[in-house]
Order: sequence, then C-alpha cells, then structure tokens
Amino acid sequence: MAPTEIRNFDYIVIGGGSGGSATARRASGWYGAKTLLIENGLSGGCCVNVGCVPKKITWFFASMAEALRNSKHYGYATPDNISFDFASFKKKRDEHIKMLNRAYETNWDREGIETIHGTAKFTGPKELEVDLEDGSGKRRFAAKHICIATGGHPVVPKGIPGAEFGITSDGFFDIERLPSKIAIVGAGYIAVEIAGMLNAVGVEVHMYIRGQTFLRTFDPMIQETMTKLYEDVGVVIHRGYQAFEKVEKVSDGPGDEKMLHVTLDGVKIAFNELLWAVGRAPEVDTLNLEITDVKLGSKGYITVDEFQNTNAEGVYALGDVTGQMELTPVAIAAGRQLSNRLFGPSHLSQSFISYSNVPTVVFAHPEVGTIGLTEPEAIARYGRENIKIYHTKFAAMVYNIFPSEEAKKNPTEFKIVCEGPEEKIVGLHLIGLGTGEMLQGFAVAVKMGARKSDFDACVAIHPTSAEEIVTMK
Ligand code: FAD
Ligand code: NDP
Repeated sequence: MAPTEIRNFDYIVIGGGSGGSATARRASGWYGAKTLLIENGLSGGCCVNVGCVPKKITWFFASMAEALRNSKHYGYATPDNISFDFASFKKKRDEHIKMLNRAYETNWDREGIETIHGTAKFTGPKELEVDLEDGSGKRRFAAKHICIATGGHPVVPKGIPGAEFGITSDGFFDIERLPSKIAIVGAGYIAVEIAGMLNAVGVEVHMYIRGQTFLRTFDPMIQETMTKLYEDVGVVIHRGYQAFEKVEKVSDGPGDEKMLHVTLDGVKIAFNELLWAVGRAPEVDTLNLEITDVKLGSKGYITVDEFQNTNAEGVYALGDVTGQMELTPVAIAAGRQLSNRLFGPSHLSQSFISYSNVPTVVFAHPEVGTIGLTEPEAIARYGRENIKIYHTKFAAMVYNIFPSEEAKKNPTEFKIVCEGPEEKIVGLHLIGLGTGEMLQGFAVAVKMGARKSDFDACVAIHPTSAEEIVTMK
C-alpha cells in the first residue's frame, strides 16, 4: 500500500557522508532547524567506510613496513623478510570504522537530527519517498529545503568481458589476504595510493596507465618524479594502456589464492587481483531526479552554482555528487556554508565555499602535496614572462646514512610558482616524506596571498625538509 502521511521538516539531507553530515549538524545543532537525514548505507559515507579513513590507516600500515625495512641502514638487525598479520590488521581497522559509524549516529542524535535509514527518491519538487532499509515499508517527507549529498561510486570500465572479476577501491577494503601480484588500472589518486601501499608491503604491483606518467592533472614535476620514483622502488609501470581485451577468473580463493588472467594484445597475463581505479561517478540514479528541475552536466554530476543551488528552487547539492573537487574537507565546508546561508544569522546569508587554493595530498609513498596552480596553468593564466619558478631537489636527512643508491631512489622535491613583480605565490608543489603534514600550514599562507618574500622572511626550522621551502633561491 502506498504511504500517505507526509511529514514536514525545515531541512532534509539525502546522504550521511562527509557533506551531508556536516550540513545537517550545522543546520540542526547550531541553528535549531528541524532536520531529517536520510542514509542508505553506512553512516559516515565514503570517507569513513571506504575512503580516507581505511586508506590512511592502511597507509600507516605500509609506512611501518617501510620504516622497518629501512631500519637496517641504522644498524637494526631487521630481517629482510618482515612477517605481518594482515588479517589481524584488517580486523582492527574494521573495528575502528564501526566505532566511527556509531560516533556519527551519536552526534546526529545529540544534535537533534532525525535519522532514517533507507533510500530516498523524489516524488515531487520538494517531496521524497524513502524505502526503509529494514524492509518495513516506505515513508514520505517534505521540506522547504532539500540537500542532495549522495556522493559517488567507483567506475568499472564498460565493454571489457569479465571486468566484474576485478575489484574497485570499495572491494580493496574487503580484502582479507593480500594478493601476491596485482594489476592496477588507472593513474589518479586511488591507483597511486594503493600501488604505493601494496608495493611497500611486498606485493608485486603492475600499474597500467594510459599516458607516460601518472597524476596527470598535477604539476609536471610531480608527474615525472613520482612516476620515476615508483619505478625505482619496484612498481612495474605499463604505459600507453588502452584496454584489456578480457578478464578471466581461474580460481576464486580464499583457499587457493584468487587467480585471474587478463588478456592484453592477445597475451594472457596472470594476476592474483585486478583493481580498477579509473575514476568515480555521481550517485544520482536512485533519486528520480527526472521529475524535478535538477539538471545534470555532461558527465552526469549535478550542476550547481557557487551557492550550491541546483536548477530547482530550494534543492541544493554538494560534495562528490557535484564533481567539484572530490575531497572530504571540501564536502564538509560546502555543507557548513550552505547551512550558514540557509539557517544562520543574516550576516551569513551570502556564505559559500571558495574552491580556489584548496590544498590536497596524495597519500602515495612518499606523499605528494599541492595547492594552487601548476606551472603550465600559471603560464596559461598569466603569461610565461610573468611567472617565476623556484625549485629544489634533495635527499631528506633520514637518507643521509643510507647507501647512496637507496637515497637516490627517494628524492624530496619542491616547487614554488610565483606570479608578477611581487612574486605572489600561486602554486606550491611538494614531494617527499612528511609533505602531507607540511602542506597545511603553508596552504594557510598561500590562501592569505603570501609572496615569496614572506616565505623568505620566515626563519627556517632546522634540520627539517620543510626549511627548504623558506630558503629556496
Ligand atoms: P559520501 O561520503 O559518498 O556520502 C554519500 C552518502 O549518501 C553515502 O553514505 C550513501 O550511502 C548515501 N546515499 C546515496 N544515495 C542515497 C539515497 N538515494 N538515499 C539515501 N542515501 C543515499 N578525500 C580526502 O579529502 N582525503 C583522502 O585521503 C581521501 N581518500 C579517499 C580514498 C578513497 C579510496 C576514496 C574512494 C575517496 C577518498 N577521498 C578522500 C574522497 C572522499 O572520501 C569524498 O570526497 C567524500 O567522502 C565525499 O563526501 P560526500 O558527502 O560528497 O559523499
Ligand atoms: P581520479 O580522477 O583521480 O583518477 C582516475 C584516473 O583514471 C585518471 O587519472 C585517468 O588517468 C584514469 N583513467 C580514466 N579512465 C580510464 C580508463 N578507461 N582506462 C585506464 N585509465 C583510466 O580518480 P580516482 O578514482 O583515483 O579518485 C577519485 C577522486 O577521489 C579523486 O579525484 C579525488 O578527488 C578523490 N580521492 C582523494 C584522495 C586524497 O585526497 N588523498 C584519495 C583518493 C581519492 P589518465 O587520464 O592519466 O589516463
């Protein structure tokens, strides 16, 4: 029987991930808006369950293996073959995530948000129907303001027979036993991060990339140095990849190790796992947007203006579903600003998030940190004659007593991109140990409009890698 009763709210948020949770909490917890949050998966969304959190914990796991292996250069009697218990690590990681799921729900409760678990779809311009997760039926809701924060999902390439035998980043976090040999297709954040982690713990990693380098949207320095660095530390990179002809499953695991055959240029190659890391797509299919005025762009993301307004009055979208910098802090900031604007005091009525100068880190081995324009972007925008580049490449101090060939495999490299006679810093690009932590403070300076002379005027902290950023000539 169709549900008839419609319950009204001030604000309905679809999706309890980074962006949805942030906007609901701000609206309800800060401004007392009567808020409903609808979530059809695990509380916390991508970041908590299959993104930043399990990824960074796995990055620590891999970094420890690296440190242990390197400790022999400092005189430790570490065996070459370090043993570890991946299944027990995974169990602890899963427990931590369950704790975070509970914390999200607790915060929502504490801040007066009504949460409902089910899949929402539009039944009118400002009306939703929710198919409850526990199978107990459907409920209907309406609100003056509705925010779509439904995120995205990983893409599996179409047209490759057997592609479904591979996994995506979601499946990567389910792995109980590390594969001996993996093929990773893709050249972006996820491919590079997972390749780095697996290589560090001894998995034979093959990356299939379409171009000559990975991270092709990053500064050329990052592309070239990181691609070479990965090759130097043992990742096998197959350039000019177009598509596997087919993928066949030979064995399933977990008794025998999973075994796949991929066919490329008519040759069968055996792998124990295949990871598709070829990008993500917006989660819009369940929403029945056709009956609303919400418009999608050419890649299927929801089109929004700078205030997160969609084309439909009173319907907003933010986070990954809009394709605007798919990063957790971006989704959170957009969510908070939207609630400030809709429910906050009048001086916040024009709040919005600035998408310029957003710092980001690829948790590769080592990390890559970047903010602002790449060198080619700066040249295109301001003209070559108005751009000055500062650049340095060196071995971080930890490598000083390593054998020199080992140190050479692990360069640290920084680039500052400056514009105009005052040398305003419009881009900062960092590779090396610790750059993931290093970037945040420098990003504040860049966001404030720092010039090169401001960096120069700051006394260095010695001995660090970061001091090179304020001493570049
Ligand atoms: P999500 O977090 O995806 O939340 C959307 C929620 O909506 C989901 O919980 C979903 O279940 C729910 N939903 C969908 N449809 C419906 C519906 N019809 N009804 C009800 N609920 C629905 N970013 C970083 O900043 N740093 C990192 O280190 C980082 N690492 C990452 C690693 C990986 C492997 C991945 C995949 C992503 C990573 N990201 C990282 C990106 C980050 O996770 C996302 O940008 C962020 O989670 C997006 O938040 P969101 O709120 O837009 O969407
Ligand atoms: P990205 O957009 O970063 O990279 C996808 C890559 O896949 C591209 O670089 C492209 O490389 C390659 N590609 C696309 N189609 C194909 C194909 N058919 N065959 C082979 N390669 C292909 O997506 P990810 O999935 O890695 O990550 C999604 C987003 O999640 C990121 O953009 C980022 O915003 C976020 N994220 C953030 C992280 C962080 O903050 N540390 C970590 C992980 C994800 P090319 O064009 O060079 O061929």
